[in-house]
Amino acid sequence: SRQFFVGGNWKMNPVSREEKKALVNTLNSADLDPATEVVIAPPSLYILPLKDTLKNNIQVSAQNCYEKPKGAFTGEIRRVAPQLADAGIPYVILGHSERRKEFKESDELVAGKTKAALESKLKVILCVGEDKDQREAGETAAVVNRQLQAVVNVLTPGDWSQIVIAYEPVWAIGTGIVATPEQAQEAHADIRAFLKRQVSPEVAEKTRIIYGGSVSANNCNNLATLPDVDGFLVGGASLTAQFVDIINSKR
Ligand code: 13P
Repeated sequence: SRQFFVGGNWKMNPVSREEKKALVNTLNSADLDPATEVVIAPPSLYILPLKDTLKNNIQVSAQNCYEKPKGAFTGEIRRVAPQLADAGIPYVILGHSERRKEFKESDELVAGKTKAALESKLKVILCVGEDKDQREAGETAAVVNRQLQAVVNVLTPGDWSQIVIAYEPVWAIGTGIVATPEQAQEAHADIRAFLKRQVSPEVAEKTRIIYGGSVSANNCNNLATLPDVDGFLVGGASLTAQFVDIINSKR
């Protein structure tokens, strides 16, 4: 069975020192479901300080890293020592729709970064998802399959044990419009079927597929029980105490 996974993506949000302290205290003192893997992805400057202050088995993640191991790439985050992997940071988020849209990251770049991150021993939270027009045009599966195929093309079947797939429909991100349980289950089942066809039945069975997009304490319980939803990637609500309820949604 797949371990439930809840990630908090803080994105580039201003979190004051006081807010951060309060949030960390809330998380450290909360009664968190020990069966759930919990990961927080803060802005890069906070990754290391948070790694040292978070307790309760809460891990940290980067929100991005570059494909190249080093060099003249001003502003990028290095995926190897001393910046990510060797610093004890286990995860990196790649392919978030905000990176794809705002920073023009192609499917191939996301795939290349994924391969590079795994080579550096980072585990990857790989985001995929369609936008509103694509969903309305009935292209959801085609878009998600295309995004995933680029990654399948560069990985070996064994690599998939280091990957968590986050299905994040763009129309649900930051909008308050959460996918219905039917929409989420259908998309997740399609992704699992894709993995079965394109990689292997074993990888399809073992890979965690988490949902992201307007997840809140109010809607997480209905999504957490779906057969192919193995957790959440949470934006806005991960900056509040609601995150504790979302972590515990499977309990
Ligand atoms: P929201 O939870 O704010 O909709 O963001 C989801 C997301 O993009 C997580 O990566």
